[in-house]
Amino acid sequence: MLQRIDLTGGRARPPELATLLERAASITGADDAVAPILTAVREHGAAAVLDAGERFDGVRPAALRVPADVLSVSLQGLDPALRGALTEMIERVRKTHQAQLPQPAETHLTPGGTVTQRWIPVRRVGLYVPGGLAVYPSSVVMNVVPAQVAGVDEIVVCSPPQAGNGGWPDPAVLAACALLGVSEVYAAGGAQAIALLGYGSSADSTGSTDNAADADSIAAVDVITGPGNAYVTAAKRALRGTVAIDSEAGPTEIAVLADDSADPRLIAADLISQAEHSPDAASVLITDSAQLADAVLDALPDLVAATTHAERVRQALSGQQSAVVLTADLDAAVALTNEYAAEHLEIQTRHAGRIAQRIRNAGAIFLGPYSPVSLGDYCAGSNHVLPTAGGARYSSGLNTTTFLKSVQVIDYSAAALAAVAPSVVVLADAEDLPAHGAAVTARFDQAVDGEAAD
Ligand code: NAD
Repeated sequence: MLQRIDLTGGRARPPELATLLERAASITGADDAVAPILTAVREHGAAAVLDAGERFDGVRPAALRVPADVLSVSLQGLDPALRGALTEMIERVRKTHQAQLPQPAETHLTPGGTVTQRWIPVRRVGLYVPGGLAVYPSSVVMNVVPAQVAGVDEIVVCSPPQAGNGGWPDPAVLAACALLGVSEVYAAGGAQAIALLGYGSSADSTGSTDNAADADSIAAVDVITGPGNAYVTAAKRALRGTVAIDSEAGPTEIAVLADDSADPRLIAADLISQAEHSPDAASVLITDSAQLADAVLDALPDLVAATTHAERVRQALSGQQSAVVLTADLDAAVALTNEYAAEHLEIQTRHAGRIAQRIRNAGAIFLGPYSPVSLGDYCAGSNHVLPTAGGARYSSGLNTTTFLKSVQVIDYSAAALAAVAPSVVVLADAEDLPAHGAAVTARFDQAVDGEAAD
């Protein structure tokens, strides 16, 4: 079911490692598929969003914006146990994301000369909550809470229309929005939702039938975040530059770095748990123990047969993106793990904390047998919106700073400027930009106030 790749023969050199595993998302195909959708939404606004929803989700809601009463009815109908679990999740996620709030950094460079880095929230954000093969009220929490903690003014949520809910997004998704006080929610999924957030929509194209709220135009956002399938990810990538995005948080990946101290049944359960997301999910075990590799492979068939989404899991595990990789030793396993740069990395070895110190590339790291990825998906307090497809080499999981931008405030007095003016002039002349130097010396051709600005 899961391919077994044996690298113990010393074949594993970095160029070869890079080509071992296909990445899960077939983003190349998705790029082509989303291009016309993005163009249609840019040109025709919300009407094109509704058309695409009808085509891809099989339903056309009465309007794009979810009415306030639908949100409040969803919250009233929320199962009490789910409400309790969401509330616990919100508390934990809020606590960790509050701790991430950066403080201003004030540097006194010289008497009367300071540079202060301030952090400012972006004004309006668009948060994507998936809803294709599965629905994700948990992703409402993972997106909304960091934006609230950062102090964002306007929070917009998009989630695919569901035929089973009259064309509105999933009721638990809507309930989670209501629980968190988010009122601007659109029944839009896939690339069309990302385009709606990135381009906005003018009043004459909102596709409104009888909902007064839709008579308004939908303003474009400054930042788009959230997980999604290959189409959502391709659209976010295409919109980068028009807006900021968090990361390319596409089809899920789990890598488990393990030695012979690990429990094969727990590893098999964790590989299955992420394969459950979609057929293009990636589940990878990297180990220096042939015994463990074989034990995991032996345990999988029965566990897969017994799981609810067995067919989806089987497809994910038998795809070219999933494997058990056997390495010559633990050092080689660590090197491969860093190169793979998994979205989720579990370390199930002796001294897991020490091994984790050697990991440079991973979206999130889960230490030891009692920190499974499923915990991070819901209730660890960490964020589950994480970079996939190797993006962990250069990008981070969603966090409070995703919704903040920094600005440096420069405040020099006359004396502080005068002290450094000769260096400015030399540097300006060296770049053949003498007017730069002149702009400094001009201040000393006339009387100036000697104090820094208030
Ligand atoms: P989704 O909301 O991401 O995608 C559904 C949308 O895809 C539909 O609304 C539709 O518009 C669009 N679509 C479907 N087929 C299309 C086609 N042929 N052409 C164009 N658009 C099409 O929901 P999903 O499909 O269930 O996927 C959720 C994904 O999110 C999974 O892959 C899961 O692994 C991933 N995920 C990632 C993270 C992360 O942080 N990386 C976290 C949670 C979930």
